[in-house]
Amino acid sequence: MSSQVISLLQTLIQNACVNDGTRESGQEHRSVATLQEFFGVEGEIFEPAPGRQSLIYRISGTESDAPSLALVPHLDVVPVDAAGWTQEPFAAEIIDGFVFGRGAVDMLNVTAAMAVAVRPYLTGELEPRGDLLFVAAADEEGGGRYGASALVERRWDLVHIDYLLTEVAYPPLSYASEPIIPVSIGEKGAFWSVLTTTGTPGHGSAPYQSDNALRKMVEALHGIFESATPVSISPEWANFVTALALEDELKEALTDPDQTRPSTDSL
Ligand SMILES: [Zn+2]
Repeated sequence: MSSQVISLLQTLIQNACVNDGTRESGQEHRSVATLQEFFGVEGEIFEPAPGRQSLIYRISGTESDAPSLALVPHLDVVPVDAAGWTQEPFAAEIIDGFVFGRGAVDMLNVTAAMAVAVRPYLTGELEPRGDLLFVAAADEEGGGRYGASALVERRWDLVHIDYLLTEVAYPPLSYASEPIIPVSIGEKGAFWSVLTTTGTPGHGSAPYQSDNALRKMVEALHGIFESATPVSISPEWANFVTALALEDELKEALTDPDQTRPSTDSL
């Protein structure tokens, strides 16, 4: 089984479904074709823009009142600055027992493992109790407009589900006795903003004591990095920290708003 995961992972990396945020990038149809071939079952293709394919399989459960479960990996990867790589990013070579390449960690490793886990259900070797859904999604790295978001908006009939596993379980969490799969209740997001500073126009030959808009901009940007953002400890965060196998002292620091910043800075 693990050799299947490795060779599938290598092909997914080699497909180079690089998502740079533009509609034309990604071209996840390449990895959709790889998965269709691996499963030997066609599945349902969702393609909201040319080449931006997601692949969906819905396997009916044997018990109509059993909860349904979805495995939702993504197929795209973020762009590469080749100058920062010691290996060819899309060769997916095995070096010292590790597969190297863009997406080997986020998250084609999980995509390959989930596909291998789901295949016996698609070939009929195993039957799920509740409905089992496998969604290999496009465009996770660019906001999901051509993937998960569009699927939920346009094909809820196909992707409705009770429970869902995706990539949040990586990196592995510290645990005391058994693995912990975190439940996501929120996501950090981008706070896009436009900052404007104004000054008094003047001549470059007289820069001193001038009312320079650029100086105000630099100081404002510096202030953003230097000012302490408020910390609020929610009950969900406190429960999350409590469940982790951390030293008591660190647990305490991570749930005390006055200690949180210094303790994370020293980690
Ligand atoms: Zn990811």
